[in-house]
Amino acid sequence: FRLSRRPDIGDKVRVSFEFFPPKSDDMEARLWDTVKRLEPLRPSFVSVTYGAGGSTRERTARTVRRILTETSLSPAAHLTCVDASREQSDAVIADFLTMGVKRFVALRGDPAEGVGSHYRPHPHGYSNGAELVAALAAQGAQDISVSAYPEKHPESPDFATDIEMLKRKVDNGATRAITQFFFDNDVYERYVERARRAGIYIPIVPGILPVHSFTAVANFASRCGAHVPAWLAERFDGLQGDPQTHALVAAAVAAEQVLDLVERGVGDFHFYTMNRADLAFAICHMIGIRATEEVPMVSASAA
Ligand code: FAD
Repeated sequence: FRLSRRPDIGDKVRVSFEFFPPKSDDMEARLWDTVKRLEPLRPSFVSVTYGAGGSTRERTARTVRRILTETSLSPAAHLTCVDASREQSDAVIADFLTMGVKRFVALRGDPAEGVGSHYRPHPHGYSNGAELVAALAAQGAQDISVSAYPEKHPESPDFATDIEMLKRKVDNGATRAITQFFFDNDVYERYVERARRAGIYIPIVPGILPVHSFTAVANFASRCGAHVPAWLAERFDGLQGDPQTHALVAAAVAAEQVLDLVERGVGDFHFYTMNRADLAFAICHMIGIRATEEVPMVSASAA
């Protein structure tokens, strides 16, 4: 196994974790167990998603505030343009900044009816991620992540259009791109090369989706334009009723992907945790990221 030849790998790799705001008390308890388990791994930041149609606006804010006040972690607030006027988006940004949030993930978002339905910008709203980035930068935000699509966004007619949109976001102030999940590292590498050729030099951080449920991932992938390779389906074939083996295979698959990316020179990884700690923790362990004993508390004002 490659890791045995790379004992120093943990020094070179940085990670971030993505969470979604919980909908119920049970989900809230699970999220905080997850946050507490992952916190000692000292991620660069953790991000909290923003639900379709701004539906989780309050819950996103509450989760971000709790991370700021109760943990040592640096939270990034996701924000979308969906169903919001410019004034409303500007007010949400101002609230986050007042709260002490320093990092943002700026997105257009999907229509409330779901991924794949035709997107109509709010008549008085920001119409895409690039415009939202400009609004964040105008209010002084300096750490602004945006989305990137190694297999191109389903609405992009071609890669040139897709890269052009990424370039607009960078020109407007984006400082980092985080990719949609993918399973073929060659696809990611080609996308990064395309971006660099287009003069995009911000980090393009791979988004890694540990496969908690192959069936769920395959369904989601087909809706958001991510390809599930036949070899991946083969790895999980027959494991639907065997959660323990499924989890072991998922950890191995993700570690293999991350280690291969490290070999290709990638140093930052963003994990879509689905609010579960175990797979992300195991993968981080395998790539040499270890829990630290002491985690200093950072107050909201000092964050
Ligand atoms: P944009 O980058 O603004 O646009 C996507 C594509 O649409 C462009 O590549 C371009 O081809 C086309 N396009 C848009 N506007 C124009 C235009 N004016 N002219 C030409 N082409 C245009 N969704 C949520 O609801 N909440 C979240 O918290 C969330 N977090 C995410 C985090 C990451 C890292 C990623 C990768 C995705 C996330 N999403 C989230 C999903 C995202 O909202 C959807 O993929 C959505 O369909 C596109 O949003 P975007 O910001 O990528 O769009």
